[in-house]
Amino acid sequence: MTKKVDIGNITIGGGSPVAIQSMANARTTIDIIAQIKELEENGCEIARIAVKDAETAESVAEIKKSVNIPLVADIHFDYRLALQSVASGIDKLRINPGNIGSIENVQKVVSAAKERRVPIRIGVNGGSLEPELFKKHGGVTADALCESALGHVHILEDLDFSDIVISIKSSSVPLTYEAYTKLSKLTEYPLHIGITEAGTKQAGTIKSAACLGALLLAGIGDTLRVSLTANPLEEVIAARQLLQALEMRRFGVNIIACPTCGRTEVDLIKMAEIIEKNCQGVKKNINVAVMGCAVNGPGEAKDADIGIACGKGCGVLFKQGLIVKKLDEQELVPALLDEINRW
Ligand code: SF4
Repeated sequence: MTKKVDIGNITIGGGSPVAIQSMANARTTIDIIAQIKELEENGCEIARIAVKDAETAESVAEIKKSVNIPLVADIHFDYRLALQSVASGIDKLRINPGNIGSIENVQKVVSAAKERRVPIRIGVNGGSLEPELFKKHGGVTADALCESALGHVHILEDLDFSDIVISIKSSSVPLTYEAYTKLSKLTEYPLHIGITEAGTKQAGTIKSAACLGALLLAGIGDTLRVSLTANPLEEVIAARQLLQALEMRRFGVNIIACPTCGRTEVDLIKMAEIIEKNCQGVKKNINVAVMGCAVNGPGEAKDADIGIACGKGCGVLFKQGLIVKKLDEQELVPALLDEINRW
C-alpha cells in the first residue's frame, strides 16, 4: 500500500481511487481557465499547467479562483518559479530537485512547500535521464529510471520532506511497465503513471491502455495521465474509459456492443455511436447492450441492464435478459435512450 498524499482537495495513494490527471495546453490565462473548466466538467480530477515564466506563476492565483480541481505547476530548472507558484496557491509542484541548482535553492522550495502543505512530484522521463546514469546503465533502462527518481527522492528526504509523488515515464510500453514494477517495490510513495509522448489519439490510447492497464491490474498506480497528442479532453475521456474497463471506477453508462457479423441487418455501428454519444455525461451505473441480432443478442448481453437486439428492419428492447417489446428499426435507438433516461 502506498502512502497517502493530499493534493488540494484530492487524496491519492493508500487505496484511494486512482485519480485522473491531464495537462492544459492553452497559452493565455483566460484560455487555460476555460480549458481546465472543461476538463473538470468531463471528469479530470487534477490539472497540470506548464509554468514557464513569472507571469504564468502569478496567474496561478487567478486560475485557482475559477476552477475547483487541484492545480499542479510543471516547472523545469527554475526554483524561483516554484516559489512563486507556491505563493500563488498552487496545490502541487512537479519539479525535480536534482535539476534546480544548489541545495540552498532546493531548501527554499522545500520550506515553502512544507509551509503550504504542497506535495512535490518527482517526474523522471526517459528522454531527460541524467547523462551519468545513461552511461552507467548503458542507456535508458528501468534501473536507470528508478535510480534517477530515487536520487531526487533522497534529496528531498535529506531535507526532511516526504510529501512526495513519483513518476518515471518513457515512450516505450515494456520499459515503462518494467520501470514502474521495479519502482513500486523500492518505494512507498504514491506513483503517477503514464506513457510519455504516447502519440496521437488512437495509437497513444492503445499504448497507454496497454501499459497503464497492466500496471493498474497489478495494483500499481495512484494517479494517471493518458498523454495524447490531441485535445486534453481526449486524455480525460480515455482515462475514464480505461478505469471503467478495468472495473476500478464507474463513471456512468457502460456500453456493451456486439462487433457485428454477417447476421447484422441494421446499421448497428451508427446506432452504437449515437447511443454512446447520448450516454456521455449520463451518471447512471448501468450496462447497456447494443446487439446485432435477436437470436444471440439478449443471451450474449447477459450482464446488461437494458439493451436492444436488432433483426431485419426491426428489433427488440430487452431488460435484464428478457424481451420487453418489439419495435421498428427507427424506434429502437429513441426507445433505448428513453429507457436509459427513465432508469
Ligand atoms: S450479436 Fe448477433 S449480429 Fe452481433 S456479432 Fe453476435 S451473432 Fe453477430
